[in-house]
Amino acid sequence: MSEPCGDFGLIGLAVMGQNLILNINDHGYTVVAYNRTVSKVDHFLTHEAKGTNVVGAHSIEELVSKLKRPRKIMLLVKAGSAVDDFIEQIIPHLDQGDIIIDGGNSHFPDTIRRCKYLEGKGFMFIGCGVSGGEDGARYGPSLMPGGTPAAWEHVRPIFQSISAKVNGEPCCDWVGETGSGHYVKMVHNGIEYGDMQLICEAYHLLTEALGLTHEEIGNVFEEWNKKELDSFLIEITKDIVRYKDVDGTPLVLKIKDTAGQKGTGKWTAISSLDLGIPVTLIGEAVFARALSAMKAERVKASKILKGPESSKYTGDKNAFITQLGQALYAAKLISYAQGFMLMREAAKDNNWNLNNAGISLMWRGGCIIRSAFLGDIKNAYTNNPNLENLLFDPFFKNAIDKAQNSWRQIVSNSVLLGIPTPALSTALSFYDGYRHEKLPANLLQAMRDYFGAHTFQYLDECTDETHPRDTFV
Ligand code: NAP
Repeated sequence: MSEPCGDFGLIGLAVMGQNLILNINDHGYTVVAYNRTVSKVDHFLTHEAKGTNVVGAHSIEELVSKLKRPRKIMLLVKAGSAVDDFIEQIIPHLDQGDIIIDGGNSHFPDTIRRCKYLEGKGFMFIGCGVSGGEDGARYGPSLMPGGTPAAWEHVRPIFQSISAKVNGEPCCDWVGETGSGHYVKMVHNGIEYGDMQLICEAYHLLTEALGLTHEEIGNVFEEWNKKELDSFLIEITKDIVRYKDVDGTPLVLKIKDTAGQKGTGKWTAISSLDLGIPVTLIGEAVFARALSAMKAERVKASKILKGPESSKYTGDKNAFITQLGQALYAAKLISYAQGFMLMREAAKDNNWNLNNAGISLMWRGGCIIRSAFLGDIKNAYTNNPNLENLLFDPFFKNAIDKAQNSWRQIVSNSVLLGIPTPALSTALSFYDGYRHEKLPANLLQAMRDYFGAHTFQYLDECTDETHPRDTFV
């Protein structure tokens, strides 16, 4: 039997798997490819992978036999039971120390479970967040690997060579233990929900409050993209709003205003509720999609429920646009601060040693939320790896100081004009709550105690001792 030639095995020849294989091949590694529907292997070899060094396998056994040890086998299949099924099929053919990598969008509790299971059998496991869609997979994704720490040195050269690069630095680093890679990818997707919602709120204000044309809105986004809001999502928004249908109408105006979702934003919001961390902006972004989906009911409500007389802004339009850019920036900052608060708590809860500076670098390029701003977050965590909150970093503290007056103007005007800005507003409420030494939770505790004997603590109490309910009656 010939010597194994494969550096990397990949199972799953749908769009992500095919593109990632071609990317790995481009970087000089020999990939062995397999797929449940085996006919797709030969089709791939004779079409998309024609002329490359990709090797096909027609069974799991053949795949494993063609790989050098320790074997590295990545699954890029539909998340859920397909991943467990493949793991069970692969295990009998593995040797101790071999590595299985799940590159799909698996939910982190599944990844924690799989990691513990495989480590218990003497194998290594990586749950790797892959972002950037099919183009990213082909030409440089953001990769967020976490799992068995000892696996990192074996996959690092391949992962860092195929990932996106920013200023020569790979958008891939080790995230942490067990399910941390998929957790960080989940939070990335949640932040993506938030960024998109903020942009949509700005678009809503520019159309409804200011009455700008879509060409003018494109110009606003183009300008924003030259400064601190410079990012992939702002850039594509400029192109989207300018794009015209064959009849000359902006295409975006013809698209039904009901948003869908695949669930990663919801998972992030659920995790924030589970951990008790106020990730309010992502939560509002998920709810905003839910509200958008109630189209028929909204059409009915629009004919029954009254708002202010007019939703037109009558002040200086240019000043409003400048303020809006500042509001977007400040709210985005809050969203990332909340995301990092959540990851910090999840790390505590799961005993992960999270690499915060590395995470910002992984998101700096290759993925949907890539932006110049993430370079500033990386600097904040590089300057202080134990930073308690991004808002305490001098750069971000000053940025909020500078933006907050504009932000307050925008939120106030939106409220007065009756134009919904759930993400911009909740971010401001969070900011004001976070910076208040005293909140009205004293009254809340008193009420809880009054009707439910929940007890409470005195302000000057240093211990956990509580006073009995009869203090109040
Ligand atoms: P996909 O449509 O999610 O999955 C198709 C692949 O999964 C095919 O290889 C299919 O095999 C296999 N599969 C489906 N059900 C299976 C089952 N019950 N048992 C065994 N194999 C099964 O493919 P994708 O869009 O390329 O995504 C792959 C993974 O990457 C997913 O977890 C996805 O969420 C994640 N992801 C996707 C994107 C994206 O932009 N598409 C971005 C990031 C991450 P057959 O050919 O035999 O049906």
